Amino acid sequence: MTDPQKPIPAITPQLAPFLEGAKRQELIIQKCGECGTYRFPPRDLCSACLSNKSAWAKVSGKGIVFSFTIMHQVYHPGFAAEVPYAVVLVQLDEGPRITSNLVGVSPRNIRIGMPVTAVFEEVSDEVTLPKFAPT
Ligand code: ZN
Repeated sequence: MTDPQKPIPAITPQLAPFLEGAKRQELIIQKCGECGTYRFPPRDLCSACLSNKSAWAKVSGKGIVFSFTIMHQVYHPGFAAEVPYAVVLVQLDEGPRITSNLVGVSPRNIRIGMPVTAVFEEVSDEVTLPKFAPT
């Protein structure tokens, strides 16, 4: 029996620049073309000024744990070997918050405000995902 696979994000036109950046080991975030506010997930309008102009910009990959939860239940068989694992909401230094996983630390040692840095995990030939590790 083969191991069940984790679901992998679809490469949609809206998410493609973010995923292409991750494949290059870079965190690329959408940025408003009018006021410069970073936004994630990508969307058509800026929530700060309602402009539909945008560009993509490389960000530092540094941030803090804004919130987190520890998954003890197996909601998908692809994650069975990893429970318990942490799902974190990281607030990037540039402002936006990204939901991801925190790696390289036991879930019981995660703290709100912990400084973290993006790391990249190749999950398929096409998709690399940003995750975060303690700085
Ligand atoms: Zn704006």
